Amino acid sequence: MENKFKPETLCVQAGWNPKKGEPRVLPIYQSTTFKYETSEQMARLFDLEDSGYFYTRLQNPTNDAVASKIAALEGGVAAMLTSSGQAANFFTCFNICEAGDHIVSATSIYGGTYNLLGVTLKKMGIDCTFIDEDASEEEISKAFRPNTKLMFGETLSNPGVKVLDIEKFARIAHKHGVPLVVDNTFATPINCRPFEWGADIVTHSTTKYMDGHATNVGGCIVDSGNFDWEAHADKFPGLCQPDESYHGLTYTKAFGKMAFITKATSQLMRDLGAIQAPQNAFLLNLGLETLHLRVPQHCKNAQAVAEWLEKCDKVAWVNYPGLKSNKYYDLAQKYLPNGSCGVLSFGLKGGRDVAIRFMDHLKLAAIVTHVADARTCVLHPASHTHRQLSDEQLKEAGIAPDLIRFSVGIENVDDIIADIEQALNA
Ligand SMILES: *Cc1c(COP(=O)(O)O)cnc(C)c1O
Repeated sequence: MENKFKPETLCVQAGWNPKKGEPRVLPIYQSTTFKYETSEQMARLFDLEDSGYFYTRLQNPTNDAVASKIAALEGGVAAMLTSSGQAANFFTCFNICEAGDHIVSATSIYGGTYNLLGVTLKKMGIDCTFIDEDASEEEISKAFRPNTKLMFGETLSNPGVKVLDIEKFARIAHKHGVPLVVDNTFATPINCRPFEWGADIVTHSTTKYMDGHATNVGGCIVDSGNFDWEAHADKFPGLCQPDESYHGLTYTKAFGKMAFITKATSQLMRDLGAIQAPQNAFLLNLGLETLHLRVPQHCKNAQAVAEWLEKCDKVAWVNYPGLKSNKYYDLAQKYLPNGSCGVLSFGLKGGRDVAIRFMDHLKLAAIVTHVADARTCVLHPASHTHRQLSDEQLKEAGIAPDLIRFSVGIENVDDIIADIEQALNA
């Protein structure tokens, strides 16, 4: 029923459909546990023969309502909330891969995810090859091995705001019989729905625009239901063979299109426990109710700031996919025709020292380790998130020593530009 609504309506209404006499607003089910009348009823839940709530680590009604709103926004069949974006990406990889498997990932991705794939998963026996996402299909295909189980990229990379050619990635992944996972955090389903371009699974750090107010850390996994695990059953034993920890149940056979999220819930959430607190899911839902209003405003303001910076003679370079001069302008027009996001980066003439002095003089834009919330904020990766790297290593990571990451908020853009101007003149 929700499929017929447009995104703006889904933001406000999807997920929670109260019946007679029930609260109009999604309640916080602040309860670890749920009551049953007979022992038999409870037993059926544990056998996954009935659906129902029994313990909040596995499922909670508040979380489920918010997850289903995000699933509706992305056009997926099912979703689950996690305690953070990191947990969402970890669960997604670990729901598909096990020791001995291999992942192919874009190189330009969020630093935390780069570390997860390149270092932490490696300790669990899962290898990752990072490829240049702009390389040709032939070049990227060379990274695939017989044990490759998934491909990963970000719609808009954090912090480089490079635009992923999702159709190209989907073609390569599917040619190799593996799903494409796309982290859609920066674009949000308001600006891009990766399933429409062939992605199979979408992840989010809901900490960013979805919450939008910088109040709670959270994540979400959405499944399109489109990937045919059974067609490559030998590659995906976790989904296509009996799970001994669930009485020999086979997820694909028992749950069809719901197999992926059911396994992530009943196996990974059961054993790893990175659940989102219902209180946080409630706050996330409040954020989602205005996502469709905030995202276009972030984009409009960022476009104006980027154009102003590009004309400013103190600025050495500006990186924003909405600028015609940008390498990713054409891809942005294709995948993000209504705008990309509020995050941009730029460098000042004079380099690193000038960047630091500029930031210290900003009054409205706050120096914080965050992006993508209502308030304009700024970060200098070379001095903050990446401060352990030398200038040489920074270049290898694609981060210029003078790079200023600027997350444009939804204040009046004249005030944001005035703040930048006074800090440049100071
Ligand atoms: C922030 C971020 C993450 C990590 O999310 P947390 O909620 O901070 O754990 C993952 N991917 C992207 C693209 C991000 O921006």
